[in-house]
Amino acid sequence: MEHIAVYPGSFDPITYGHLDIIRRASSLFDKVIIAVLINESKTPLFSIDERVKMLEEVVKDIPNTEVMAFKGLTVDFVKSVGAQVMVRGLRAVSDFEYELQMSHTNKTLAPELDTVFFTTNLEYGYVSSSLIKEIAKLGGDISKMVPPYIEEKVKEKFK
Ligand code: ADP
Repeated sequence: MEHIAVYPGSFDPITYGHLDIIRRASSLFDKVIIAVLINESKTPLFSIDERVKMLEEVVKDIPNTEVMAFKGLTVDFVKSVGAQVMVRGLRAVSDFEYELQMSHTNKTLAPELDTVFFTTNLEYGYVSSSLIKEIAKLGGDISKMVPPYIEEKVKEKFK
C-alpha cells in the first residue's frame, strides 16, 4: 500500500517553516500532497493559482510531492486522493489548542484518518505567513523566513 499524506494549509505565502515540514514528511511517506485550501471567508494576499504556482516552484526538487488546491472538508479531500494521514505543524502552545481541536474534529468526521504532527524546526519556530506579510508591507527583510523566489513575489505585491 502506498502511504500518502496530505499537508493542508493556506500557504499565503509558503515559508521556510512549511518547507521544513514538507521535507521531513516527504522522507517518511511515499507521497506528500500539499493541499491549498480554497477558503472564501479569508482574503488572501496571493490567489489560489499564485499559491499553487509558488508551492510548485519551491518543492520542485522534492520528487515525491504534489501540489493541489481543494474546496470543502479536508477529510473529504484526503479520502478522495487515497491518503490516510493529514500532516500539520506545531510551533507553540498557541498552535496546540487549535490543532488538537481540529484533529479531534477530523477524527470524529473520518475515524479512518489520522493527523500527524511535526514540531517546528527550532530555526523557524517564530516564522508565520501573517507576520511575513506584515514585515514585507513595512519594508522589512524577510530573506531568512522564505525562499528567494517567494521573497520576490511578496515584494512585488507591496511595490
Ligand atoms: P492554516 O490556515 O491551515 O493554519 P498555514 O499555512 O498557516 O495554514 O499553516 C499550515 C500548517 O503549517 C499549520 O499546521 C501550521 O501550524 C503549520 N506551520 C505554519 N508555520 C510553521 C512553521 N514556521 N513551522 C512549523 N509549522 C508551521
